[in-house]
Amino acid sequence: MNKLKFAFYWAASCGGCEIAVLDINEKILDLAELADIVFWPVALDFKYHHVEALEDKSIDVCFFNGAIRNSEQERIAHLLRAKSKVMVAFGSCACWGGIPGLGNVSNQAGIFERVYRTTPSTANADGVLPQPQTEVPEGELEIPEFYDTVRALNQVVEVEYYLPGCPPPVDLILQAVEAIATNQLPPPGATIAPEKVLCDECEREKAEEKSVKEFKRPWEIIPDPEKCLLEQGLICAGPATRAGCGAACIKVNMPCRGCFGPPADIADQGAKLLSAMSALIDSDDPEEVARIVEQIKDPLGTFYRFGLPASLLQRTRT
Ligand code: SF4
Repeated sequence: MNKLKFAFYWAASCGGCEIAVLDINEKILDLAELADIVFWPVALDFKYHHVEALEDKSIDVCFFNGAIRNSEQERIAHLLRAKSKVMVAFGSCACWGGIPGLGNVSNQAGIFERVYRTTPSTANADGVLPQPQTEVPEGELEIPEFYDTVRALNQVVEVEYYLPGCPPPVDLILQAVEAIATNQLPPPGATIAPEKVLCDECEREKAEEKSVKEFKRPWEIIPDPEKCLLEQGLICAGPATRAGCGAACIKVNMPCRGCFGPPADIADQGAKLLSAMSALIDSDDPEEVARIVEQIKDPLGTFYRFGLPASLLQRTRT
């Protein structure tokens, strides 16, 4: 049998997606039977010039995790796109920008100022900032350019499939590999996860009419393990988040944070969540409504935790 060729790449992300690939445990041996891995910088000693030497479209599937934050990631996204028949946005950061996308509340100058000059642990008396090019006695050193704006993978190159999650769960990874192995991939553009919201998958008791007088943070209460977390005042992203994780967080009494992104019929996960929370507030008194809304700490980071770059907002104005 002719083996397939797979590539894996890690751009702006925490590395959890790489661990998720290894979490398939002994099934990695089935993967090795099915495909040769021709590029996987975190695990195998391939260099960029090895990829450049490949013929265009000679990689069958590229699993690309992480958002695009700098010029190196953008260059490799274009390179892997050219060399791959199928590009899979693997994990929340590649799909919508993910946690690194929250950097879009600032820009390069703002982030550098904080990171290299004003954090309490910084010792940088001369206030030196990273430069793309630096002259040293040995020649010119070059590091990637750090962009003002984080982008999702499909804002840089064309993407065929989306594998959501932070990181994608093992069963969805195996489902995707199985679909590739049996040539049963859905039409391009599909997300490899169910087309429904998490609330439809969640087994907790739900009231017909939800209402809250108070929003709480998870550390403030021990929630009733049987009842909807939202009804208990915890901000649960279930109403605006795609199912497919098996309600993993909900099962350990933690509200959904939204890492599966929205299903296809929700254009903007953050806006939908905002609308769902507004509808819950049980008061007609503007002062009381303001007091309840005040209890939502960091609304942008809560509602757009995984998807600011791919949202209608994309970023804040700086
Ligand atoms: Fe379950 Fe959260 Fe939806 Fe409530 S809001 S039903 S806890 S997923």
